[in-house]
Amino acid sequence: MGGMNEARFDPVTACWICGERRLSPVARAIFEFSNYAGQDPELHAALTGESIDLVRCADCGFGQPAGLPSLPDYFGRMYDQRWSAEWLEAEFHDGTKDLIFHEVLRGLQRRVPPSERTLLDLGAHVGRLIHLAAQSGWRAEGIELNPRTSAYAEQATGLKVHRADLRDLVAEGRRYGAVTLVDVLEHIAEPVDALRGVHGVIAPGGWIAVKVPHGPNQLMKERIRGRVFRGYRPTVADNLVHVSHFTPRALRMAMEQAGFADIDIRPAVPVVPPQRPGMGRAARVAFLRGTAAVAAALPGGAKSPLAMNLQAYGRRV
Ligand SMILES: [Zn+2]
Repeated sequence: MGGMNEARFDPVTACWICGERRLSPVARAIFEFSNYAGQDPELHAALTGESIDLVRCADCGFGQPAGLPSLPDYFGRMYDQRWSAEWLEAEFHDGTKDLIFHEVLRGLQRRVPPSERTLLDLGAHVGRLIHLAAQSGWRAEGIELNPRTSAYAEQATGLKVHRADLRDLVAEGRRYGAVTLVDVLEHIAEPVDALRGVHGVIAPGGWIAVKVPHGPNQLMKERIRGRVFRGYRPTVADNLVHVSHFTPRALRMAMEQAGFADIDIRPAVPVVPPQRPGMGRAARVAFLRGTAAVAAALPGGAKSPLAMNLQAYGRRV
């Protein structure tokens, strides 16, 4: 374990959340971009076959890579996924995340009075959350950088989906009673900066809702999966799709630093649908069966108290 190709990576030496420098390797992330050989040969050539440590902070428990790819706009290129129209349609009608979305909306409805119910969904993807929010009476908008998903989301929902940077919305003076980040923050490096940006588009007294995977518990689940299924390699950070791995403590610190108060963090509702490109129905069924087998092997069995995901709310002050 360990080691880093210094030509390919810029080292990250301090915890993105608390600044601690005692960081220990807990897993290895590998890079595989064979599928991108046509659309982005430079990305494929620079990184396929490389790997890097995922390290954990000795203080707050946050997990992050030991270095970031030095290739310009790495994350923009990695997320330049050119979904087909059929895939987008299937994704919108999929519904496996509706339970999470409804839970998030219920949590916000307890906190935000009806007159203040404007909502911005950051990383709106195909627009499912804003669609459900609008049905629940919110004036909902999304923000999504991917041109295909943002165009699809706007057409499918009839709602505004900004294809812009958060800073642009701040500069335009847009403010919302609530901002949601569901399965978004784990994809963002240096997440405190992102949360500060979110703070800027929330109206005073408004609320943020964040849902992220529980970093250490997800890693433990993957290790058990590796024992249950011979030949399965535990994976939590390949291609750095997940680049920020939160503990409850790290999430609380990050939200406090970004200017949020009245922070409430609890286990999120347990839904574990595969969100993997190209996964067909048969693979999904196999995956969900596998998930049940892994859950049964967790401490406490299928009714394990272990939180696989964290749901957090914070008030803008
Ligand atoms: Zn830390």
